[in-house]
Amino acid sequence: MSIDFNQKRVLIRVDFNVPLNDAFEITDDTRIKAALPTIQMVLERRGSVILMSHLGRPSKKLLPDGSIDKVKFTLRHLVDHLSECLGVPVKFCPETVGSTAAEMAASLQAGEVLLLENTRFNAGETVGDEAFARKLSTLADVYINDAFGSAHRAHASTTVVAKFFDKDSKAFGLLMEKEIENADKVLHDPPRPLVAIVGGAKVSDKILLLDRLISFADAVLVGGGMAYTFIKASGGQVGKSLVEEDKLELARELIQKAKSKSIELLLPIDSVIADDFAVSAATQIKSSGSIDDGWMGLDIGPEARKEFGKRIRDARCVLWNGPMGVFEMEPFAAGTRAVAQAVADSTNTGAFSLIGGGDSVAAINQMNLAEQVSYVSTGGGAMLEYLEGKELPGIKAIRKV
Ligand code: AMP
Repeated sequence: MSIDFNQKRVLIRVDFNVPLNDAFEITDDTRIKAALPTIQMVLERRGSVILMSHLGRPSKKLLPDGSIDKVKFTLRHLVDHLSECLGVPVKFCPETVGSTAAEMAASLQAGEVLLLENTRFNAGETVGDEAFARKLSTLADVYINDAFGSAHRAHASTTVVAKFFDKDSKAFGLLMEKEIENADKVLHDPPRPLVAIVGGAKVSDKILLLDRLISFADAVLVGGGMAYTFIKASGGQVGKSLVEEDKLELARELIQKAKSKSIELLLPIDSVIADDFAVSAATQIKSSGSIDDGWMGLDIGPEARKEFGKRIRDARCVLWNGPMGVFEMEPFAAGTRAVAQAVADSTNTGAFSLIGGGDSVAAINQMNLAEQVSYVSTGGGAMLEYLEGKELPGIKAIRKV
């Protein structure tokens, strides 16, 4: 990063939206850890750091009197742990903007860190209010956006604030840079064959991703609940598996599109089926297109695991988004586990692999394979939109001169 941080106040938008337990203790600090390199870089280069983030959705969980729950959603809960991680005391400002924030920011010395209160305590945040964004901008000399997980939102602190800094005084943080760089490896001239694995509950969440992949991947492997909409659309019998009736036509179109472009769209040959959505359900292995009434497919079966595994191991570039089954329940986790292992194996033989989004990230972590793939995105919805080919507002705002 070419910006000179010496004696500068640097406003960094991070994603500290970490899960907390009932005692307000952090149960997973992955997001905090991911933001540390950028913060440390600024401190090492003799700048001071003003951190801002959202935590939760306070406006969706108002107190009975209609006010924001400032006890539950305060970023104060993070101060001790953040201080420990950084090895420097972190000052906390009980407001995001205002006279106290201005005073605390102005008196920061090089090497010091100030954490502002939850950006979403301000009504202007999620609507991208200019006046609020301008107030944020007055706190600092430089703006860095390192909150990739929020880059698809045109909020005041993620997007609008950037317009108040000239192009030499704003930049992506190191995490954000890494996310973009790794996604671009898949999107721009990837090594081939490129195999994409798409799973998860619903087709409707991943239509744009599937549509795009069918234009440029060599093979698309579809698993998870969404596979049954495709199987039904191709004339299969799926019992009471998850099916989006209103997406059957779309599934047919996607199958047709893949055919016309000679891109392989692979559905699971067989499934682990169950008579109930429960750990204790009776299970069988069945061909995915002949599931009897009263039964539902909750995981890809052993034949599908083998076929998907081979495709993945033969790939030179792998993109994975979404689990192959209800992996949270042990009887339906084998398919996701097999895919995770195949992605790790493929990577070990030189393929580039990107785990891009939500539940497949949880799965790869749960299976302790995160170290054996090329990149695990912190992005969730933001990564999904980036892969869909959308221009994310948080990225555009920094790139715009
Ligand atoms: P998504 O957030 O779209 O990636 O979906 C993840 C969720 O899909 C997980 O909670 C899985 O339990 C669920 N899921 C995966 N496979 C199935 C299936 N065959 N039937 C129902 N739900 C599924």
